[in-house]
Amino acid sequence: MDNYYVNEEGYYGEFGGAYIPEILYSNVESLRKAYKEIINSPTFQQEFHTLLNDYAGRPSPLYFAGRLSEKYGCKIYLKREDLNHTGSHKINNTLGQILLAKRMNKTRIIAETGAGQHGVATATVCALMNMDCVVYMGKTDVERQKLNVQKMKMLGAKVVPVTSGNMTLKDATNEAIRDWCCNPVDTHYIIGSTVGPHPYPDMVARLQSVISKEIKIQLQEKEGRDYPDYLIACVGGGSNAGGTIYEYLNDLRVKIVLAEAAGKGIDSGESAATIQLGTVGIIHGAKTLLMQTEDGQIQEPYSISAGLDYPGIGPMHANMAKTGRSEVLAVDDKEALQAAMELTRMEGIIPALESAHALGVFGKKSFNPDDLIVLCLSGRGDKDMETYIQHINSI
Ligand SMILES: *Cc1c(COP(=O)(O)O)cnc(C)c1O
Repeated sequence: MDNYYVNEEGYYGEFGGAYIPEILYSNVESLRKAYKEIINSPTFQQEFHTLLNDYAGRPSPLYFAGRLSEKYGCKIYLKREDLNHTGSHKINNTLGQILLAKRMNKTRIIAETGAGQHGVATATVCALMNMDCVVYMGKTDVERQKLNVQKMKMLGAKVVPVTSGNMTLKDATNEAIRDWCCNPVDTHYIIGSTVGPHPYPDMVARLQSVISKEIKIQLQEKEGRDYPDYLIACVGGGSNAGGTIYEYLNDLRVKIVLAEAAGKGIDSGESAATIQLGTVGIIHGAKTLLMQTEDGQIQEPYSISAGLDYPGIGPMHANMAKTGRSEVLAVDDKEALQAAMELTRMEGIIPALESAHALGVFGKKSFNPDDLIVLCLSGRGDKDMETYIQHINSI
């Protein structure tokens, strides 16, 4: 049988692994040895699920989108991650990792953030658990995401503006890794997506897998079967998609359709369509597909949505795309804006710009009337209001 989960060596097919500096080796190795045992232990699971339920507000509803279903001639359910505390799926991962860090006797947390959603989710759980928190953020992003920077500061985190490179997410990640190299003993690095060296991609996907565990139960209740025909999600690094599909990875009855950001168009030179445009290389500790020049320089990605603006992609998704397990469509800025407006007016839900890319799939692919579809609505649109106001004439 095909297996799309990580193997013992930390690979998904040819992708993954842990390409890290010597100084981090013992750190990553102890994490690798500890994470599965800790995550699977009953005390961790109990504490994690109590927080997911009582603090983050889970289970998130599985909402039947009636008007959208009618328009596209199929049955569409939305998995409402936008209703979580802090506004997206990111809290699932940060709650899990802070519990893990505590059990590994870490006293200090570092994180990278692009749009600031992961930074806010990390600062939130650090306040909750009384841990020191340093968030690295590109200076460009600090300037364009002021509200999230203010939230992180109010929550007690130190926000460090990064001035190297393009001053965005990739540069913030480099700086976080540098910090980790200097403080390998007391510090845990909470990576915000299914990227980075093994075991991060698998660890983050497992923590996010609560999404697909709930989908199974909710579909069984609503439809009398525990699997859909299609799962749809957007992919930046791949964590909301990873969580949405985790329980169905090897279940080939379930087709997986992912949306990556085409920015101003695949051929425009301004996109973040890593799967369409990427080639094999190493970024932030993992072998995966990334957007790079012929001589191996990382190309600056672009998307209207800061959360999808990453030049790499999680190794799990690189493997699924390469082997044909997933179908990956590139949705551009304009299509995402249109899809956001459509959801807003048809269902009364303002989605995050990232999630709007997933919604953009309905304009690109047709479905049959009896197709049962679950789309992960990864976050809410509050943080994107300025962009929406700028770009949508009818507001
Ligand atoms: C960060 C973010 C994403 C992209 O990250 P993934 O790891 O690919 O899920 C998507 N949607 C929202 C709302 C986000 O905040």
